Amino acid sequence: MNLPILPGSVIGVLGSGQLGRMLAIAARRMGYRIHTFSPEKDTPTGQIADVEMVASYEDLEAVRTFARGVDVVTFEFENVSAAAAEAAAEYVPVRPSGFVLHTTQHRLREKTFLAKAGFPVTPFRPVCSLEDLLMGLRDLGFPVVLKTAGFGYDGKGQSKLTSPDEVESAFRALGGQEAILEAFIDFRCEVSVVAARGVDGTFSHYGLIENTHRNHILDISVAPAPLPPEIAREAVEIARQVLEQLDVIGVLCIEFFLTRNDRLLINELAPRPHNSGHFTLDACITSQFEQQLRAVCGLPLGSTRQLCPAAMANLLGDLWQNGEPRWAAVCAFPEVKLHLYGKRVPRPGRKMGHLTALAPSTEEALQLVRSARAALHLPP
Ligand code: AMP
Repeated sequence: MNLPILPGSVIGVLGSGQLGRMLAIAARRMGYRIHTFSPEKDTPTGQIADVEMVASYEDLEAVRTFARGVDVVTFEFENVSAAAAEAAAEYVPVRPSGFVLHTTQHRLREKTFLAKAGFPVTPFRPVCSLEDLLMGLRDLGFPVVLKTAGFGYDGKGQSKLTSPDEVESAFRALGGQEAILEAFIDFRCEVSVVAARGVDGTFSHYGLIENTHRNHILDISVAPAPLPPEIAREAVEIARQVLEQLDVIGVLCIEFFLTRNDRLLINELAPRPHNSGHFTLDACITSQFEQQLRAVCGLPLGSTRQLCPAAMANLLGDLWQNGEPRWAAVCAFPEVKLHLYGKRVPRPGRKMGHLTALAPSTEEALQLVRSARAALHLPP
């Protein structure tokens, strides 16, 4: 029997970044307590949590101690080892499961799982040796993208190959790590679906979101995606089946490429709330973070209804290069919401916060969020 984990209980989060922070804020609002576990201190999640435990993910005894102090464990960062998830599962439910974590934290395992289950994915080949790479290139042709199979995100550990003379140095750059070779997709656009599945198998989603990236990092998301409804329906149906086949309890995001002939190809899965779903905090009845909380606690899922079109723009550390951004200037946009994650050091490429603009149409929301972000670094 799966009794719901009710307000007053303790939610354990592996990871301590902004995703855990926004989950912690949602959980505290609903009367839960939050414990976070990561190797760092004074973290975005730790600043909101009741308890910030500082230890290595490899320290399984520390993971067990952490798990004994909470009622359920979830994660906000998927590069936690399967062994850590198993250690926590000795004491409390881990949601989504260690199996979901293990599958989605490794690009090759993830794509192999999806391809075997019949889902449309970017054509790919495994690469363990230079011979594999040369064979993959014979099958896929140029251009291709070579990515490390594990521990990659935001374009880290990736290189695009356009000609044979780039092959050897790209292989050497892998430093012996297992990799995946993917066909380079000349896409029309990138889209995502953020979805949730409850303990009882109930499915919910936030529709189709359109995403633009800069330097491989998400830059702007617009929701609902200004694309034909049949594409949105197909993407949501794929999401429903992926969550079911992986038996996800929690939130999972699917990122797709939409090809120039309108085919959806899955690029990757994230078994947690996602940057492209941040607009839900301000634009939807239930945010992706509250939905994660409800799902992992075995509560009924909330309504995902979007109250008005929205656009979200990331605020990266680069914005600080000429000093502190002009926060008052952005607050002069009454329909733009500012979110900052409490990170002290603004490194280039580091996600420091985001803005969400709400407007009568997605085009207006997009214009508004761009103007608001530009105002952050205009001279006064
Ligand atoms: P990833 O870390 O795999 O999500 O890649 C980050 C970004 O790099 C994606 O959002 C795309 O903009 C780009 N990218 C990754 N893989 C490919 C591919 N196979 N074809 C074209 N662009 C890609």
